[in-house]
Amino acid sequence: MKPITTSLFELFKIGPGPSSSHTIGPMKAGYDFITTVRTLPEDILARAVSIKVHLYGSLSATGRGHGTDRAVLAGLLGANPRTCSAEFMDGLDRDNTDGYRVAIGSNECVLTWDDIVFDAFERDSCFSNTLSIRLFGDDQTLLFEREYYSVGGGFIQWKGQKEEVRGMPAYPYATMEGLKKILRTEKLRLHEVILANEKALTGASEGEISAGLDHIITTMEEAVDTGIGSEGILPGPIGLHRKAPVLYRRACKMTHSTDHLMVALSAYAFGASEENAAGHRIVTAPTAGSSGVMPAVVYVLKNHRNIAPHALREGLMAAAAVGFLARHNASIAGADVGCQGEIGVASAMAASFLAYALGYRFQVTENAAEIALEHHLGLTCDPVLGYVQIPCIERNAMGALKAYTAFLIASAEIPGNHKVDLDQVIRAMAETGRDMCTKYKETSLGGLAQSVVQC
Ligand code: SF4
Repeated sequence: MKPITTSLFELFKIGPGPSSSHTIGPMKAGYDFITTVRTLPEDILARAVSIKVHLYGSLSATGRGHGTDRAVLAGLLGANPRTCSAEFMDGLDRDNTDGYRVAIGSNECVLTWDDIVFDAFERDSCFSNTLSIRLFGDDQTLLFEREYYSVGGGFIQWKGQKEEVRGMPAYPYATMEGLKKILRTEKLRLHEVILANEKALTGASEGEISAGLDHIITTMEEAVDTGIGSEGILPGPIGLHRKAPVLYRRACKMTHSTDHLMVALSAYAFGASEENAAGHRIVTAPTAGSSGVMPAVVYVLKNHRNIAPHALREGLMAAAAVGFLARHNASIAGADVGCQGEIGVASAMAASFLAYALGYRFQVTENAAEIALEHHLGLTCDPVLGYVQIPCIERNAMGALKAYTAFLIASAEIPGNHKVDLDQVIRAMAETGRDMCTKYKETSLGGLAQSVVQC
């Protein structure tokens, strides 16, 4: 089995919401396309007059609600998810009928909203989230084409892509069993293995990795802070009122109640998720749709428990190990395995973060992740009207609360008595995802997406 070679900062990506597979991935595809096109010979660029984008699969079914067209356009205009501001995204005006000018060498193409087509749902392709981007000459001659796959968590691949050459991990593993063997034989702690692998894979120094993780924590905190301080209605036809400020005010009033932590955790998860739904900056953990779960537990440990920065970084690395394993051995895309791969994995990551950052050793960390994921198995993806709002926002709060409960159970029991391991539950998630009917995988053709609309 191939070892895991995902970097921490590929899993924890900063970018605009509301969906890693439908926003961040397509924006990266647009950015990659335009960057690649600009390297073509000048005589080809001189003939270019138009660019057309075709969206298939779940990108076609729910792309309108997820703002996929806006994301591809932003990428083609040179925006990249990590640095793209909310103002830039909000400024892409749907009433603009003149189109947007895309510079290509000494030439330029004009791209209108009509050039981005929500095409057929079915497509003979290896991934459900497929988009094809084409560059045409004035006689409709195809000058260049690339077919992209948005494979979840903001990762993209394209047809014919050569495997990227990168360093090999210092401690290769592909399963939790393999990882445990390394911890035992090398007498290392979990975060030490993840750190050594990150250095070997990316060539980054320990200082650079620590700074990157601190930036992830700060960005998560900012999403929560902005969310709990923002009133109003979220974009889109649902007319959903933001609830994070209400929950936060309630939490502040009940500091002596046993319910305080639950309400605060919910408020933080709502805050980051509502920022995601607004198309603002979030951290994928592991995806944008589930980007409220980890920030909620990070915020609690940082601001309610004053946990030291190094412990937060180490907890983040433990959470990443869980996300890596889920992505490698199943999927973190709602379009592949339903919401169990998004909120379920986020909850498992958050549970392992809590255990590890609070000083529990490896077995409790694994058990906490396992319990959290186990109780999300079979969860479908059925966003109402294709917007990452209902059930997604509340579901982030539920994922955070389940993560906390999973941590409490795992830290109370005798670790060796736990009967299910993380590899087993990830295998179950993969199998459940394979058997899940397509309409429950981010198509808005089934479940809540249908029953709410029909009412
Ligand atoms: S239902 Fe879950 S998987 Fe689907 S869009 Fe919402 S958060 Fe993502």
